[in-house]
Amino acid sequence: MKNRHILIIYTGGTIGMTVDKYGQLVPCDFRHIIDLIPEISRFDFNVNFLSFSPLIDSSNMSPSVWIKLVGFIEKNYHRYDGFVILHGTDTMAYTASALSFMLENLTKPVVLTGSQLPLGMLRTDGKENVISALEIAAAYENEKAMVPEVSIYFQNELYRGNRTTKYDADNFNAFKSVNYPPIAEAGVLLKYHRAHILSGDYTSPLKVYKEMDDNIVVLKLFPGINKQVVHSILNAPELKGVVLETYGSGNGLAQQWFLDELKRAIDKDITVLNVTQCVAGAVDMHQYQTGSVLLDIGVVSGYDSTTEAALTKLMFLLANMQDKSDIITSLNKSIRGEINI
Ligand code: ASP
Repeated sequence: MKNRHILIIYTGGTIGMTVDKYGQLVPCDFRHIIDLIPEISRFDFNVNFLSFSPLIDSSNMSPSVWIKLVGFIEKNYHRYDGFVILHGTDTMAYTASALSFMLENLTKPVVLTGSQLPLGMLRTDGKENVISALEIAAAYENEKAMVPEVSIYFQNELYRGNRTTKYDADNFNAFKSVNYPPIAEAGVLLKYHRAHILSGDYTSPLKVYKEMDDNIVVLKLFPGINKQVVHSILNAPELKGVVLETYGSGNGLAQQWFLDELKRAIDKDITVLNVTQCVAGAVDMHQYQTGSVLLDIGVVSGYDSTTEAALTKLMFLLANMQDKSDIITSLNKSIRGEINI
């Protein structure tokens, strides 16, 4: 379909890196990438490129870059049918989660991809990732995108962005979405799992949010965590939100000093969101006394959220909602398919 137009936004990451004189991987120029994937010109749709300057290793990702990214999408939304974002794998799940919240009423695909080995290497996984991501971004049926949501394509699978976590530092199969099935799979054919794909709201225009509140922390519990550490974290100046990584089904310490610290924070209007440290499964604070004590003092359930989605959802809500009760209401529902309740 030559009248379809896809925009590739290159942010950096291993996919486009080369080895510098010290033997380290550093980002390189975008023209280099196009030379390495000549197949792009064989698509029956148009592909244009936009490159970040400077390019970044995604370990340097920040909310200000997310704001820049959604700004690019907003500016180009009417000219393109889909977007492919080339991104480092290290924080790709955070960016995909953040973008899903910052782009409301999305009806076009935003597919993030990258690679574990640079495109310039013989055994690169990047080429297939980019080619399939482009095909998914351009897939339409009856004038509607097949995947009108923010997703991550990696190693033959397409995941909902805000359900995904980087899982493996070494293998090509770097991402997992343990609490939600893949929304599409690439075999001989690209198979779309329609029942798992968001339907997109075609009645309202795209709404782009350009504020995220970074006065937030992830506090991971561990046996031996002490009062001094918890106290100083919860009393950090301007702190507004805590993603509390608890044990199992949402259990924490039932010790009085810990509950008192948390309660004082909640009384100061700090939102505390409970996610599990387990790789799979959900928070249910009713199961154990060590969970119900958290519920009693006002800790909010993160259900089956990834830490990445919980963190970025909280950043998004804290920046865009004034009323604490509205924030709590939004945390207790799925706003972009990020949790199952
Ligand atoms: N450090 C790189 C990045 O996230 C890793 C990668 O792209 O795989 O930018």
